[in-house]
Amino acid sequence: SVVVVGSANVDLVVDVPRHPRGGETILGENLRRTPGGKGANQAVAAARGGGADVTFVGAVGRDDDDGELLLASLRQAGVRTDPVSLSELATGTALIAVTADGENTIIVAPGANSEVTIEDGTAGRLGEADVILAQLEIPLETVSSAARARREGATFVLNAAPSRPLPADVLEEVDVLVVNEPEAREVAGREGSPDELAAALNELVPAVVVTLGADGAVVARRRADRTHVPAPKVRAVDTTGAGDAFCGVLAAALAAGTDLADAVHRACLAGALTATRSGAQTAVPSAEELDGYHRA
Ligand code: ADP
Repeated sequence: SVVVVGSANVDLVVDVPRHPRGGETILGENLRRTPGGKGANQAVAAARGGGADVTFVGAVGRDDDDGELLLASLRQAGVRTDPVSLSELATGTALIAVTADGENTIIVAPGANSEVTIEDGTAGRLGEADVILAQLEIPLETVSSAARARREGATFVLNAAPSRPLPADVLEEVDVLVVNEPEAREVAGREGSPDELAAALNELVPAVVVTLGADGAVVARRRADRTHVPAPKVRAVDTTGAGDAFCGVLAAALAAGTDLADAVHRACLAGALTATRSGAQTAVPSAEELDGYHRA
């Protein structure tokens, strides 16, 4: 099984002709309200795209419509939501402006996500999991507790996004680190090619996956050759959630005992297919769809 500890946000997305400057008001169009947040997106992907038994640990606003939207999306994908706490704060909200060339600017109001904790009753669930998956849109102390729970035998996968400095006590527990290129530079504290960054990060953690958008991903593990896994060529229309689909499907494949390089291959397929559809959770492919691609 997979336990995802992370954020849940409602995404308010609006198309804009260009991004506004400070002090400026512009008109956008086509407002959408869709379920998002890195944690919830990855939980949906692990369940729908990965076919895993998934539990989500997070927080949404009590009695608010946005919280209902998120819980419904998680449950529809088959994710267990009983450890989701109901906060007096509003459900997290992401304000997203998208230009025609697909460039996003995003402002996140964390709200209930700032109260995500691992309750005593849930701690046991983490210990029993095959994989614990976390990101950095929740308090770092909660990420630390999730990381420590791995000592019961789970594999701890950390998607260090959005990037922020990682305390040593978290890094020490990471089994697999997943980062995109900017995050890789931030965590490594240096510049360099994806290969150089993966090698530098591999000194800190036993396994590293650096995602490269349309170019797929680089996988580095200690005492093994670095490998490059290509992504299939697709016509990308909206890359929102591609990185999250990648992480969720990767975690599910690892929980099923798949080796890292094969898990990354399936994760690349999931990321690429997600980029061909708009939205985050709504764009995640099913496990059957991914199987079909594998056979093709
Ligand atoms: P993030 O969205 O977190 O910055 P990436 O852009 O690296 O992460 O995308 C994550 C994964 O999604 C990639 O490793 C790749 O598998 C897939 N992906 C993203 N964009 C594309 C694309 N344009 N074509 C094919 N695959 C893509």
